[in-house]
Amino acid sequence: MTDDNPIRPQPGILDIALYEGGAAHVAGVENAVKLSSNENPFGASEAARVAFQRAVHNLHRYPPTDHAALRAAIGEAHGLDPARIVCGVGSDEIIGLLCQAYAGPGDEVVHTEHGFLMYPIYARAAGATPVRVPERERTADVDAILAACGPKTRIVFLANPNNPTGTMIGVAEVQRLAEGLPPRALLVLDGAYAEYVEGYDGGAALVEARQNVVMTRTFSKIYGLGGLRIGWGYAPRHVVDVLNRIRGPFNLSTAQLDTAEAAVRDHDHVARCRAENTRLRAWLAEALAEHGVPSDTSTANFVLARFADAAEAEACDAFLKAEGLIVRRVAGYGLPHCLRITVGDEASCRRVAHAVGRFKAGEAAQ
Ligand SMILES: *Cc1c(COP(=O)(O)O)cnc(C)c1O
Repeated sequence: MTDDNPIRPQPGILDIALYEGGAAHVAGVENAVKLSSNENPFGASEAARVAFQRAVHNLHRYPPTDHAALRAAIGEAHGLDPARIVCGVGSDEIIGLLCQAYAGPGDEVVHTEHGFLMYPIYARAAGATPVRVPERERTADVDAILAACGPKTRIVFLANPNNPTGTMIGVAEVQRLAEGLPPRALLVLDGAYAEYVEGYDGGAALVEARQNVVMTRTFSKIYGLGGLRIGWGYAPRHVVDVLNRIRGPFNLSTAQLDTAEAAVRDHDHVARCRAENTRLRAWLAEALAEHGVPSDTSTANFVLARFADAAEAEACDAFLKAEGLIVRRVAGYGLPHCLRITVGDEASCRRVAHAVGRFKAGEAAQ
């Protein structure tokens, strides 16, 4: 920034480090296996694909602004009140709208040590100050979060299950957190991976019981629609009213709305993907452990593989890349000695476990 340029953005914006998505290509390797963005290896349901194709007939029409059909479908699928649902361009947009609406200069936005990078990014974009709270053994620590909260706290973000650690905390702990927050603070439970946990409501019951809890959800993970950008929030009515005032009325296209509606109604596809993920995740974690690469018990669709140090994680990443296997380095999340590996289909899981094994064997031989 040169001093003679009088055009400047709002305070905080130049402190934002650019978010980097998971890599998708390796130079010189065709058909690389992408295990870097927690995408569903089985893709979107057939019903969702058909709905997307049908949307081509209505490209000249504006979409509805109230998202009523999608909210009704989500309400039916999850047993929720459609009036408390707000839909956005990925859960990212909901997270951004919450920061814009509830946090500003002088306010603090609390998130966990290895929490999603979009929380501090949107907090800064709103002019607020992100506050990072230590975890205990890569797991959210409710006492530490409560200790970090004060009169300036406006939002507390907790991804449960968390990315990139894969760990989660129980319902009673989440409730204790919600009850212990200062009066002006909103608890935002990011449930991007909630569908991977059998029988878990993502925090919906807590939203309904309280005035200070919001849940965010996404179609990017188990629904296999990351490319289409659809998410939603479940919130007390007063929060829904606020978010609807600031969101773009046409934030979601007809294609997004119709495809998401078909996807959320396809319960069988979700159940199949969850079952496959659970089975392959256990297999992958065990195979990695047998090769001397431990991980915490994951509740999501990825495994956080721990190496001896940052150098070994980096070397393994390079080894995997040369094999056409793309995983995620997570140094930006404060975990330089780890690699996050998405649970792919069976062939991908076998390939990546086998390659890590050969890497470790080669290292031991040196
Ligand atoms: C992937 C992910 C999301 C989803 O974001 P979208 O904008 O809905 O694609 C949200 N939170 C966390 C923690 C995630 O890992």
